[in-house]
Amino acid sequence: MTPSPSLIGKHALVTGGGRGIGAAIARQLLGEGASVTLLGRDAATLDATVTTLQAHRLGDASVGAVCADIADPASVEAAFAAATSARGPITLLVNNAGQAHSAPFGKTDLALWQRMLDVNLTGTFLCTQAALPAMLGAGWGRIVNVASTAGLIGYGYVSAYCAAKHGVIGLTRALALELAAKGITVNAVCPGYTETDIVRDAVANIVGKTGRTEDQARAELAARNPQRRLVQPDEVADAVAWLCRPSASAITGQAVPVAGGEVMAG
Ligand code: NAP
Repeated sequence: MTPSPSLIGKHALVTGGGRGIGAAIARQLLGEGASVTLLGRDAATLDATVTTLQAHRLGDASVGAVCADIADPASVEAAFAAATSARGPITLLVNNAGQAHSAPFGKTDLALWQRMLDVNLTGTFLCTQAALPAMLGAGWGRIVNVASTAGLIGYGYVSAYCAAKHGVIGLTRALALELAAKGITVNAVCPGYTETDIVRDAVANIVGKTGRTEDQARAELAARNPQRRLVQPDEVADAVAWLCRPSASAITGQAVPVAGGEVMAG
């Protein structure tokens, strides 16, 4: 069933919107009537995605992009100001940008640890701080954090990423309570292995380190999912779009796995 366009007149900012899960989220939010700003570091990728997404706009909605490193406070502040002056106050924020680098704990140096925390957790903090005043001013808002099943359970060889994503879920729960009476919901979606560049890199890593074939490496990742497959970006985007709708106003502080049953929230 095609959802009714319940986000007409709203402005959504999607971090990491240039590719992967973020681009799928941007497409769905446009399809529900929102104007969308994509945020990422690579202008060429963002511009190409903006061009592709033009066809998905409804009515007067617009789509554009801003360049920023979400781990850099000044860059985030400038990007949110530019997005606001182009498309109006941001009342939907999807904190999707992230990086996943693996290493055994003994080889996780301080630089890798810090980068995982900076991008995945501090980036979510900075973008949320930048967006919140407009939501408080409007008395309405939606914040959806794209965490991971690695925010709910442990996985070997990704301790820094796991710690950062557990932090994102803690932040989601705390902020949901703080904003519960202000018309703003805060939720997380937790994808399992999803078919994007992150999984392509993980497959290349397994092939390089173990000598397995690409098919074997992909099958190994898919086997963690009880449905024996990788999640598709559109499936994650569907869950994000649902949480963004006005009709999802009673859902806050939740961490929703999108992982074929791999993790069951208690
Ligand atoms: P992806 O295809 O690698 O995309 C990552 C996005 O994040 C890119 O658009 C990238 O844009 C952006 N990004 C990375 N570092 C950034 C920074 N410092 N500042 C601004 N933007 C940055 O990965 P994906 O799979 O779509 O991942 C999206 C989210 O889902 C991430 O938070 C990831 O942890 C989470 N997730 C993914 C999976 C999976 O299996 N794919 C599973 C669970 C959770 P630029 O490079 O242009 O900056």
